[in-house]
Amino acid sequence: MSSRNRAYYTLIDHRFYAYRGCAPDPDQPDRAQGDTAVSVNAWLPYTEDEQETPSARNARQAAAQRVCGSCPVRAECEAYALSETGDGKLSEPEGVWGGMLPLARHRDLVARRTAKTPAAAAATIDAKRLDEARTDQKQAVLRSLATNVDEELVAYGAGMDVRTANWHRSLLCGLLGLDKERATRQQLLDTARTLGVLPAGVRVVPDGDVPIAAAPNTDGSRQRRLARGRRLPTSSVQLILPGYEQLLRVPRPRRTTRPAGPRLRVVRIVAEPLTFDILLPATTTLEPAA
Ligand code: SF4
Repeated sequence: MSSRNRAYYTLIDHRFYAYRGCAPDPDQPDRAQGDTAVSVNAWLPYTEDEQETPSARNARQAAAQRVCGSCPVRAECEAYALSETGDGKLSEPEGVWGGMLPLARHRDLVARRTAKTPAAAAATIDAKRLDEARTDQKQAVLRSLATNVDEELVAYGAGMDVRTANWHRSLLCGLLGLDKERATRQQLLDTARTLGVLPAGVRVVPDGDVPIAAAPNTDGSRQRRLARGRRLPTSSVQLILPGYEQLLRVPRPRRTTRPAGPRLRVVRIVAEPLTFDILLPATTTLEPAA
């Protein structure tokens, strides 16, 4: 599946897609459900037939952007609109998508084409997009990416599942003006550092000999490619005995599920001297009986 199609299905399969702001209101189909004061036509492309004055067009687009700002699928919508077709064009070159105007999306495309270094990318990124790259989830992914090179460890460190972590990595590439398909982990971190999105105090663990892709590619294979010579996570380290280096490393045993039913517990009984309290009649009690 191409990255464009993947972005498209990620958008329309989103569980909140039905609640997107630009969908027709159920009671007033010509009004947007995100704000019934806004027409559903507010997101349409400019027709250039001079029927709409510039001020009317600006007001219409501003209203659409305002609704996009509180749309539950805004990030997914933006990612799709910024994705590219097979011949390298924007998937959605016209109209308002994800709160972005066509000009901003074209600038983003040009930046991706021309950005060769983090500094070059930095010159084309506006402050709004940098703020979006500083959300808690994206910061968690960036910080975890700085200290981990394995995608599962990145996701674990960021406190989310692998798919979500990869999705944030992909969005970060787009927000920071990098090519989502080709940008490496190191490029993403370098760009984030240059733009001040990754704090200076965060140490970046190097990739090793092979650059690690920062975003999923079409078939996901680059996500699974590990860098030769990189430090293994502690859980993977195994002892190799001298003279037995030729032996393959033994995979860690898979954890088996415990059988159902009551569990027995071994209890070790410790022998201890038993003590009894023996009550003897007091002397004063025996005397009358004698
Ligand atoms: S973000 Fe996309 S789906 Fe949501 S209101 Fe804007 S254009 Fe519609």
